[in-house]
Amino acid sequence: MLIVCLKPREEIRIRRGHPWVYDNEIASVSGRIEPGSAAKVVDSRGKLLGYGFFNPTSKIRVRIFSKSKPEADEAFFEEAFRSALAFRTRFFDPAKQSLRLVFGEADSIPGLVVDRFVGKAETGSGAWLSTQFLSLGVEVRKAEIVEALGRVFSPDGIIERSDAPVRALEGLEPALGTLAGTVPSSILMEESGAFFSVDLSAGQKTGWFLDQRANRAAAARYAPGARVLDAFCNQGGFGILCGKAGAKSVIAVDSSADALTAARRNADINGLNPILSTVEANTFDYLRSLERAEAAFDMVILDPPAFAKSRAAVEPAHRGYREINLRAMHLIPKGGILVTCSCSHWFDDERFDAVLAEAASDCGRRFRTIEERTQDLDHPIVSGYDESRYLKCRILEML
Ligand code: SAH
Repeated sequence: MLIVCLKPREEIRIRRGHPWVYDNEIASVSGRIEPGSAAKVVDSRGKLLGYGFFNPTSKIRVRIFSKSKPEADEAFFEEAFRSALAFRTRFFDPAKQSLRLVFGEADSIPGLVVDRFVGKAETGSGAWLSTQFLSLGVEVRKAEIVEALGRVFSPDGIIERSDAPVRALEGLEPALGTLAGTVPSSILMEESGAFFSVDLSAGQKTGWFLDQRANRAAAARYAPGARVLDAFCNQGGFGILCGKAGAKSVIAVDSSADALTAARRNADINGLNPILSTVEANTFDYLRSLERAEAAFDMVILDPPAFAKSRAAVEPAHRGYREINLRAMHLIPKGGILVTCSCSHWFDDERFDAVLAEAASDCGRRFRTIEERTQDLDHPIVSGYDESRYLKCRILEML
């Protein structure tokens, strides 16, 4: 077996539970190198740290999948899937709800994302899996994974959406297609009492942003009677739940025409035509034009894509978050609500709260923090692996 021996002291982070071994932390590699094969990771004194997927072309040279099991075979995946499912059944009913069933490293399967969508298609009710294979280790074990997914989750079909840019860092091309069964072009699924038409093959990421489920429901509690601006709305998740909760009007903004077509379809499905209207625009420009027009909203939702995708991008991200939050605050009268999110792991809670305080101070306002929220429970946050903590959602009352 491939043996990866670390330099002195490089084991500390790994022992705390971090699953990544970087190329510059390795003293030696012995054995036959086969891309994606399992490697035994030992500290500088030869003590076992764990077993992981080896990738000779990635800066993350090893991704640890187990402390004790030397191979990730079909039985390994089956057990990992059952354990991931057991955790989620604490809070959710997987038979009825669409869920993220596997959240990569946070579920001890480095690089694998599996979302299960439950709903209705033209062919009838069913459950379909949308998957992303984002590490070489899971890429070369795709056949075993598909088998184990079938056995544990019994889906009607499995689609692959491995088109995330991080695949390139693993030396992999984008991959899209059906891996098992049949996957309908669109399904109708329920979330918090509203219905959404989701396109599993063309929607962004795996088709739907499941991580915001609880935050969308939380935001909707403040919506009755409100004039709502849902910025970075994608397929209208926040705005439609606000509309269902009794918002007076919802303007949903996104730069993607496809996302807005889906948002309008979802508004129709939920009887929210003409309460919800869409605007195709860059949110930065649109907020500026609203400010010039002295528009006012009782509630503004900001759910931008990750502005900081790496440590190096934290500073430019700071300017972006500051600008959208400052401009949104200008639009909200006293007593109005700002729901503001950041999904950049690198832009941590402390920075995000600081940028919000800075934005308020820059426009001569203060706010009361009503709720400090994070990603929903099917995206677990695990100790030692800080990257699993990424989503921040604040619900603020403007003073
Ligand atoms: N709020 C959504 C998820 C938002 S994902 C939900 O609850 O499901 C981020 C969205 O921002 C994407 O739909 C993307 O198309 C959009 N986007 C990215 N940059 C943008 C910009 N500068 N202006 C407007 N929309 C943008």
